[in-house]
Amino acid sequence: MPIHSHAYFELKKELEEKKIQLIAVSKTKPVEDIQQLYKLGQLDFGENYVQELVEKAGKLPPDIRWHFIGHLQTNKIKLILPFVQLIQGVDSLKLLKEINKQAIAIGRKVDCLLQVHIGEEETKFGFDERELNDAFKFSGELSHVKVIGLMGMASLTENQEQVRGEFRKLKELFDNQTSLKAHGSRLTALSMGMTSDYKIAIEEGSTMVRIGSLLFGERN
Ligand SMILES: *Cc1c(COP(=O)(O)O)cnc(C)c1O
Repeated sequence: MPIHSHAYFELKKELEEKKIQLIAVSKTKPVEDIQQLYKLGQLDFGENYVQELVEKAGKLPPDIRWHFIGHLQTNKIKLILPFVQLIQGVDSLKLLKEINKQAIAIGRKVDCLLQVHIGEEETKFGFDERELNDAFKFSGELSHVKVIGLMGMASLTENQEQVRGEFRKLKELFDNQTSLKAHGSRLTALSMGMTSDYKIAIEEGSTMVRIGSLLFGERN
């Protein structure tokens, strides 16, 4: 399947002007598609499944920066830890603790984003507002985990004002944490926005968008 290179160039231009980072979400797409986008200059890719990520990373250039954006199970951490650039969906203290333990074991500090539950879907993962401060405090005590920001997914709804409200809430939390300097260093990454809602996310202050279908076409 040819990738949407025109859409890529358009998007890249828009994001570069606004200094927003683009994560190309390649889950379920073949390595050939990733290779195509890589050849156009894209280095940051996001994957949701550990097995799929490990297989693809083994076949693709080593300078690709892999972002894990799915729900990570503790027993799979070690498979991606040696090479992952950013673990975006950290959603429990248990996971933070386990990432730290395994990061110590391989002597590498790993960057993470705390996932915040902003949408209405019960099934979505993430800390809620009240839990977030504890998570920051907790992460501040971990030597090999560096929380550099927040990640969130808005509700799957046609209601744009609802989506906007959810992103706005996440941005507020991000700004509050920044001023708190909860763990001694500023948060720099606010990962919000996908194909359907990235424009709203950008208007609401996103610094990092995760875009799949717009670049690679619909997933099956
Ligand atoms: C799949 C996925 C995306 C990309 O979705 P698109 O609608 O294809 O842009 C972004 N973020 C997360 C967490 C995802 O699981």
